[in-house]
Amino acid sequence: ALVVRQRMRRSGMWARAMAILKGMEQKSETSLEKLRQLADAMNVEMHAGLASEGGSKLKMLISYVDKLPTGDERGLFYALDLGGTNFRVMRVKLGGKEQRVVKQESAEVSIPPELMVGTSDQLFDYIAEALAKFVATEGEDLHPEPDRQRELGFTFSFPVKQTSIASGTLIRWTKGFSIEDTVGQDVVAELTKAMRRKNLNMRVSALVNDTVGTLAGGRYDDQNVIAAVILGTGTNAAYVERAHTIPKWHGPLPKSGEMVINMEWGNFRSSYLPISEYDTALDAESLNPGEQIYEKMISGMYLGEIVRRVLCRMAEEASFFGDTVPEKLKIPFILRTPEMSAMHQDTSPDLKVVAAKLKAIFGISNTSLRMRKAIVELCDIVSTRGARLAAAGIFGIVKKLGRDSGEVEKQKSVIALDGGLYEHYTKFRECMVGSLKELLGSELAESIVVEHFNDGSGIGAALLAASNCLFQYLNAE
Ligand code: BGC
Ligand code: MG
Repeated sequence: ALVVRQRMRRSGMWARAMAILKGMEQKSETSLEKLRQLADAMNVEMHAGLASEGGSKLKMLISYVDKLPTGDERGLFYALDLGGTNFRVMRVKLGGKEQRVVKQESAEVSIPPELMVGTSDQLFDYIAEALAKFVATEGEDLHPEPDRQRELGFTFSFPVKQTSIASGTLIRWTKGFSIEDTVGQDVVAELTKAMRRKNLNMRVSALVNDTVGTLAGGRYDDQNVIAAVILGTGTNAAYVERAHTIPKWHGPLPKSGEMVINMEWGNFRSSYLPISEYDTALDAESLNPGEQIYEKMISGMYLGEIVRRVLCRMAEEASFFGDTVPEKLKIPFILRTPEMSAMHQDTSPDLKVVAAKLKAIFGISNTSLRMRKAIVELCDIVSTRGARLAAAGIFGIVKKLGRDSGEVEKQKSVIALDGGLYEHYTKFRECMVGSLKELLGSELAESIVVEHFNDGSGIGAALLAASNCLFQYLNAE
């Protein structure tokens, strides 16, 4: 009788766990119709954000980039890329149309987690020091005048209200950074002060978001690039707008007639977003509650955490992993998206990657095959939702540019994509690309395509530094 009762209890628990899983699946529903509504909502918010300052959750930030690389850029330039858990320093020698990129060197430095929540001076001192070390490795072949001031393109991948091409104040941090005293400061001034403290003779000649850098880097390679999207730790998009359609721009109309807009789409919000109770809880407990809602459903920093939250509920309310809830399952952000991706893409018949990850991350062993299958299904639900939401955003941009209408149908348009999530999470990428094709329809999908530009933002920043530097003439020697 005891055995029978135990068995009945266990099957009741399994049913309850599956109900939780199915509940998440239902809440995550992203029909084509919903994606179209989202794209329309994105389009509406884009208009509102361009109309007036604070007109929308979408900041639609003016980048001051009104001419994109042509290929004529020449000289030696540095780039600094800060936006996630690592930053990159880079130097490139540009040789104009004939020679293009003559030489390119870079180094990657990880940011100690305590610096992400410390003080502004600590962070920028650390960066300036790494930059100074890198500059010191400059080969003599590259620079004829060692004392001349170096020019730097600064990719800073957070929302910044630009005041010129080379200055701007931080609106707020995202992606796990939280340094109070930087908010409202000019990040170029902060970096410049730190460089002085390290006796580094360098001038920031362009301040750009990573999306803007990727757009510039993409355009250098392919003149059909009209927008760039980052799917990485965070997510965002930038695109080339017709300057006269930006009501809030009161400056002179640029010669090109164009202006690159940094959308900051991570902060998009709409009643059409399929928000579950797990998203609501994740947001409430995050470093930036109420902000970056779209980003929190899509990007690499959060996907694994959403999965963990659902699993935790299954453990707590349906004893999914046995009578006690594994302690490690309760730790926020312990399941990182690369691990989720590995489980999701486990092709072994007995799902041994899933078993190994559960053991390594949560200390969970002895899972049955059907449990592991359920976990793969959960990863699929969360990843599919994120990928399809991202596709809807891209479709929103295509609509805003009117490229979804008949007349420009044959005009080739390239969306430059980058970011670790896009690059490494194959199922996510394929789902995103497939969903975008569904939205475009087969005919348009031939002329509007997505292309990966690996690390375009570094080279893009260097290129923009080149077109905005003080020494264009000297550099062109
Ligand atoms: C930031 C954006 C950035 C994106 C991708 C977001 O969290 O707000 O500025 O472009 O991450 O790195
Ligand atoms: Mg890369």
